[in-house]
Amino acid sequence: MVQSSGGVRLRAPSDGGFYPLSRHSRLKKTAHIRGGRPYMKVLVTGGAGFIGSHLVEALLGRGDEVWVIDDLSTGREENIAHLMDDPMFHWNYGTVLDRDLVGEVIAQCDIVFHLAAAVGVAYVVKNPLNSLINNIRGAEVVLEQACAGMKKVVLFSSSEVYGKGNGLPLKEGDDRVLGPTAVSRWSYATGKAVDEFLAFAYWREKGLPTVIVRCFNSCGPRQTGDYGMVVPRLVTQALTGQPMTVYGTGTQSRCFSYVGDIVTAVLLLSEHPEAVGQVFNIGTDEEITIEGLAEKIKELTKSSSPIVHVPYEKAYDGGFEDMKRRVPDLRKIRSLVDYKPSLSLDELLVLTINHICRRLDIATPQGLPCASSSELFATASVKKA
Ligand code: UDP
Repeated sequence: MVQSSGGVRLRAPSDGGFYPLSRHSRLKKTAHIRGGRPYMKVLVTGGAGFIGSHLVEALLGRGDEVWVIDDLSTGREENIAHLMDDPMFHWNYGTVLDRDLVGEVIAQCDIVFHLAAAVGVAYVVKNPLNSLINNIRGAEVVLEQACAGMKKVVLFSSSEVYGKGNGLPLKEGDDRVLGPTAVSRWSYATGKAVDEFLAFAYWREKGLPTVIVRCFNSCGPRQTGDYGMVVPRLVTQALTGQPMTVYGTGTQSRCFSYVGDIVTAVLLLSEHPEAVGQVFNIGTDEEITIEGLAEKIKELTKSSSPIVHVPYEKAYDGGFEDMKRRVPDLRKIRSLVDYKPSLSLDELLVLTINHICRRLDIATPQGLPCASSSELFATASVKKA
């Protein structure tokens, strides 16, 4: 069904929900001008993190003024150190649980990208209480404060909300299948789902424009393996001659997407009026088993590291449950914006290996194409719809 609101054509979401059309008029328009061109004032919570720091760079790159709130729990100062002298960049060391700080910064901004959250399966399994509190209360504070000034919120959710999935590829409107509450992994999925419910509720009841994105296994430069993410872990192990740890049988599979593509897609959605009040998968559908990934990384790095299998009970706490496969259905995002992953998995791994070599201060493996940092970020530049 297509409805019209003030010249904007609205398609009813295929996964339920509705558009409270009268509330579109409450959307704030931006009117900041600098050097003769309009720009936005933007808050990125979690802007010192892996995805957040790439998003901040893309926003500054298109001329926006950016505020970051980050408590550096899983983010790192080195991700944003090169931005500190930029007059359009404002750094706030703090937590999204700090209502006053969040309110004060949001009051100056036009739009909020909410990424501050506990991330990584290994981190969440080890810190279940902090993760739940940060993820649920943090989103609550951000949405509440954004609502006070009717500022649009783009909420970063996760493919984890699908849980064990209910048939592939995973569609935004699918049922969610989660395991028991005694298994910490599912608390992350539940916390993120509560965030989504909150974002929908603020839109439906208060008219706060919200857009939800579910990211599928993003990776690329700056991602660390410290919180469990498999690509930087396997690459670091391969480059430093340690055993490459494949958990379980290695037949489980994932689709790894380039962080620059995720940033591009999120920015396109953030500007699209039809994205408001909706949830979108973002990722790629190029699937690989973890065993296959380890072999590919071993080959690209010319590593002599052995690939070893580690039982899940050893890798995580007992009772851990993994998803066998996780593939996104990308039809919804593709129907709305011009979203096309720009890198193949091989190209993405080459970028990541180059980056980790630089971070570890070791030579790039012989024969590996060398990606400069300008190349890294050229692909993350934002194409307008
Ligand atoms: N994994 C692995 N070795 C590692 C880290 C992770 O085999 O050193 C596996 C993990 O069990 C999962 C997949 O790799 O099956 C992806 O894990 P990650 O934590 O990156 O993301 P997830 O898809 O689980 O959120």
